[in-house]
Amino acid sequence: MKICSRCVLPETFPGIRFNEEGVCNFCLDFKGEEALKEEKQEYYHKFQDLIKQVKGKSDYDATLAYSGGKDSTYTLYLLKSVFKLRVLTITFDNGFISEQAFKNIRTVCENLAVDSMVFKADFHLLKKIFSAGIQNTMYSPKALERASTICTSCIGLVKFTNLKIALEKKIPLMAWGWSPGQAPIRSSIMRINPALFKSTQETYRKPMHGLVGDDINRYFLSDEQFKSYDFPYNVSPLAFMDYDEQKIIKKIEELGWFLPKGLDSNSTNCLLNTFANNVHIEKHKFHPYVFEIAGMVRSGVMSRDDGVEKIYGNKESTEAINLAKEKLGLK
Ligand SMILES: [Zn+2]
Repeated sequence: MKICSRCVLPETFPGIRFNEEGVCNFCLDFKGEEALKEEKQEYYHKFQDLIKQVKGKSDYDATLAYSGGKDSTYTLYLLKSVFKLRVLTITFDNGFISEQAFKNIRTVCENLAVDSMVFKADFHLLKKIFSAGIQNTMYSPKALERASTICTSCIGLVKFTNLKIALEKKIPLMAWGWSPGQAPIRSSIMRINPALFKSTQETYRKPMHGLVGDDINRYFLSDEQFKSYDFPYNVSPLAFMDYDEQKIIKKIEELGWFLPKGLDSNSTNCLLNTFANNVHIEKHKFHPYVFEIAGMVRSGVMSRDDGVEKIYGNKESTEAINLAKEKLGLK
C-alpha cells in the first residue's frame, strides 16, 4: 500500500491525493512547524488568561475525562502541578478498562492529591451499542476518518457524562487529554455554545437511541439543561504544550503510573480498542488512528518511523481481541 512520504496517511484514506514526490495534500496544506509554534504560544497565554478568569469560583476549576491512559494522566499532571488547578477526574468505565489502568488512576490521583470519580455505565446497554458498531456505521463518514464507530459511541457518552457533571457542579473548565493529532490547536480552548452542542448531541444520541430507545437519554442533556447559563469551556492542553511521548511516559512513571500489558500500541488503557480498530480497518481499509498519528508526524511531535510502527507495525494483541469478543458475546 502506498503511504505519504512525509506523514503516514495511506492511499486508502478518504480524499487523499499525492504529488509527484509522493507527498499528500494534507502535508502540502500544513503551514509548518514555525507557524504552529507561534500558535502554541498564543494558546498557552490564552489558557493562562482563562485560568485567571475562572479559578476559585467553584468547588473545582476543571473536570478531566480520565481514562488512565498516558495522555490523560499527563494532562492531569499539567492541570494540577503546572497550572495549579483544582481538578475532579471523571472516569467513564465502559467495561473494558484494564485492571492496570484502574490501579494507575488510583495511584496517580492519590499521588497528585486530586478527587476522582468513576461512572460505570450499564453494561447491557453498552454491549448493544458496541456490538451494533461492528455491523453498521452509525456516524458520518467524516467522523469515521478520526475514530472507529465503537470508539465514537464511547467518546460521545464520555463527552456528555462529563458535561452533565460539569453543569451540575458548575465547574468552569472541562479538560481533555486529546493528543496534538486529535485536537486541532484552534479548537483547543473553546467555550461550549449550547445551540451548537445540542446538534452535536443529536449526532451521538440519535443513532444510539435507535438501538436502545429512551434508556440512552439519561446519558445526555435534557432540553432544560441546555438552557443553563453556565456552559463550561472545553480545553485540550496537549494541543499547545510540549508533547514528547518518551518524556511524557517518564514523567508519569514518576507519579506511579505503569504501562498496562496486552494492549495495542495506540491505547494504554482500553481493552476494547484493538478489536474496534480491527473492525474499522476491515471495513474502511485504513487505521482509525492514522489521521491522528499523521498529524503528530507532520507537526514534528513524533518521528515518521515511530508513526509507521504504530499504524503498520501490527503489534496488536490477539488476547485483547478475544477478550473483547467474549465480553460482547460474539464468541
Ligand atoms: Zn502526508
